[in-house]
Amino acid sequence: MAAAAQERYEACPENKAIGAYLGLAVGDALGATVEFMPPAKIKALYGVHESITGGGWLGLKPGQVTDDTLMSLVLGESILKKGAVDASAVAQSFSDWFVNNPVDIGKTVKRGIIHYRYSGTPYVAENSSDAGNGACMRTLPVALATYGLSDEINVKIASRDQAHVTHNNPLSDAATECVIQMIHAGLTGCDKYDIKHGPVKQLLNRFPEFNYFEIHREMPSGYIVETMQVVLQAFFTTDSFEDCLINVVNRGGDADTTGAIAGMIAGCYYGLEAIPARWLSQLDHAVADACELQARALLALEYGKAVSA
Ligand SMILES: [Mg+2]
Repeated sequence: MAAAAQERYEACPENKAIGAYLGLAVGDALGATVEFMPPAKIKALYGVHESITGGGWLGLKPGQVTDDTLMSLVLGESILKKGAVDASAVAQSFSDWFVNNPVDIGKTVKRGIIHYRYSGTPYVAENSSDAGNGACMRTLPVALATYGLSDEINVKIASRDQAHVTHNNPLSDAATECVIQMIHAGLTGCDKYDIKHGPVKQLLNRFPEFNYFEIHREMPSGYIVETMQVVLQAFFTTDSFEDCLINVVNRGGDADTTGAIAGMIAGCYYGLEAIPARWLSQLDHAVADACELQARALLALEYGKAVSA
């Protein structure tokens, strides 16, 4: 490809949006194999884990994704149907998804859905122990749908309207909003310096516990602070989508979710063409098609303009 054409292609938000969605799915499928494993066990079993093979504690088929990707798709559908994030519609969508016996579901997510079913209220109350990564892992559709909204407050409202269906916690909110801003920066074509000194710095200024400089964290739990630390370490210390994802999942722990979040950020930043073909071809084809379709539709959505009753 000629340099000028390459530049245009790389700056194309649609290419980056599809890269983000497929990056999320690839990271989920890659990481799920080693979820909950310590790095020493991963090393003993695989040397370096770098193939989408399925298996893991969930006994997945090669290319099968987990709740990280599936909840994102359910959320994206709801946004497209309503033209915006509508908390009640989101809660109902999650509830419908739960009925169909998903392959995996987090305990905070399950609690939120049950709360909605009993109360009819789509929001859970603020809870200091809800600082899990379950709201952040599914935030990509909100980021794509709100890209270009000029008012940051409206982006925050959209983020919290989906997050608080299951997770209502300041650390979860801040990290989820940071990831949205990182995706927006990636879509715009910002470089890593801008991302580090923009959204990431804002997060660290508000909540210094997210500091990711000092320790090389392994075995991250589902606690959003540990999740973000490994995602940021992997993203800022590597120079390609492939290296970022291999770096993050080989740390084990909550590897499907760290893979999913790193995958959406790196997939957006580097673009679709940076995702290794061997990973894309291994991904569940129906899921890959749904991710691509949604990425295009969410990016094209005129957010806030109702598209259905
Ligand atoms: Mg999962």
